[in-house]
Amino acid sequence: MLVVSHLLLVLILISGFSYTRYQSEWNRHVEYSASLAKLTLAPHISFISTSVAGINYANLTMPATKDLFASIDDLEFLDITGTSDYSAQTMHISYFKRLEYLWRADVSQEELHKLESKLSDLKAQIEATDPANAVRHKKLKFIQNRVKREYEAVAESIFVSENIYIPWQKSPVNNESYYLDEELCTLNVVLPLRNKNGGEVWAVFDASELTALQHSLVEEIIAEAIVALAISLVLIGWVSHWIVSPLKSLANHMRSDNTSENLNTLNELDRSDEIGQLARAYQGLLKKLDHQLNILRTRSDTDPLTGLGSRYKYSRTAIPFLKHHLSKGQYVGLIVCDVDNFKAFNDVYGHTEGDNALSLIGSKINELARDNDLAFRYGGEEFVLLCARPEMNQLINFTERLRKEIEGLNVTHEGNQPYGTVTITLGGSVATLQDINEYFITHRELQESMFNVADKALYVGKQNGRNQATWSGSN
Ligand code: GH3
Ligand code: MG
Ligand code: MG
Repeated sequence: MLVVSHLLLVLILISGFSYTRYQSEWNRHVEYSASLAKLTLAPHISFISTSVAGINYANLTMPATKDLFASIDDLEFLDITGTSDYSAQTMHISYFKRLEYLWRADVSQEELHKLESKLSDLKAQIEATDPANAVRHKKLKFIQNRVKREYEAVAESIFVSENIYIPWQKSPVNNESYYLDEELCTLNVVLPLRNKNGGEVWAVFDASELTALQHSLVEEIIAEAIVALAISLVLIGWVSHWIVSPLKSLANHMRSDNTSENLNTLNELDRSDEIGQLARAYQGLLKKLDHQLNILRTRSDTDPLTGLGSRYKYSRTAIPFLKHHLSKGQYVGLIVCDVDNFKAFNDVYGHTEGDNALSLIGSKINELARDNDLAFRYGGEEFVLLCARPEMNQLINFTERLRKEIEGLNVTHEGNQPYGTVTITLGGSVATLQDINEYFITHRELQESMFNVADKALYVGKQNGRNQATWSGSN
């Protein structure tokens, strides 16, 4: 997801930058080409301006002028329009390089007719002139030839104007000094004339070189974009790996049953960036959780009235206790103790006194139990002890001592006759490693079996008059 979003972002950025760069580079090239085109025309502007100022068609249409225009590199078409400085007469001259035409675009049939009638006038005058008058005859002939040439030029201009098709057009946007026609592949340049009443030269240049340049510019920018994209891909891969893999590792830790302690190996904890902060926050959270769990475990492990282990703790620790001590070759005893006639105690002395008595019994059990022994208040007025001794006798002695010490507490209990004090009855069952090996039973099955046997022994003790310890084998 991170890779895709980064890739999209980079693609958008690279396309945006490439397009902007293409636009500015291309505009710069077009502007530069237009400046060059204007520079090639500039030396001829004075000559054209002067000719327009003096309505000098002869100057502008003579073969030398055509040669001049033909010598301008890449020029395709030229169009001169302007107004004379003296008579406000407009002029229009055009030049079409490929057709090698330089003609007046402002001629009319009327002008042609005028020249026609001028020619017939001259013809009449020549015919009327005395052949002996050679000077006048020569002069009229000279004028006739000039008007004839003028007539031919005008006739040709009319023919060209009427028959030629000019494919180009000036910039569609007003007052723009250059315009690139990408369709016709031409660069149109407009230069103002310098004569008093103004005018302009519109020149059309071949722009195929510019188009070739455009292609190489596009190729160059695409190549740059590909390189930028490749570098970005490497960077994105690296950054994503740098961010995603530690996040994944954190997520894996979160999914597993980790505690704050085995989280210490997490490498992300040492990072100084946000991922490091996240990892440390997670570690803090786990520590808090561990702490709360410890409080809860302690609470649920301890019986609040007697301070002994709870039934919950018994279910959690009995099997590990068996495993541990049996494997060491010890006799493991499971002892169930039950207060005798305790219902009667409550009935006579009240429930609070009953609680006090249970608390006293609990303290005594705790006092007599060895460090390795486990003592629990199993429920109500029943206690369970797990003891491990090297000798069976030691277990029997222990239960006997326990019984005596409770009796020795001398807590008056009139309802517990014949003793008159609080007493307990104990039922014990014993197991060794041999039991596991011989009967192919699990530690859990052994524990359950031991409990049942001890309970039965307790029952026997109750039946036999209470205040006694009865031991039995576990199977
Ligand atoms: P037995 O010698 O056969 O065990 O007779 P018992 O009266 O002790 O036997 P039973 O199980 O019938 O009665 C147990 C009594 O223990 C019932 C209840 O009044 C008392 N008891 C159980 N839990 C508590 C406790 O937390 N506090 C007090 N004060 N009494 C309890
Ligand atoms: Mg009971
Ligand atoms: Mg009882």
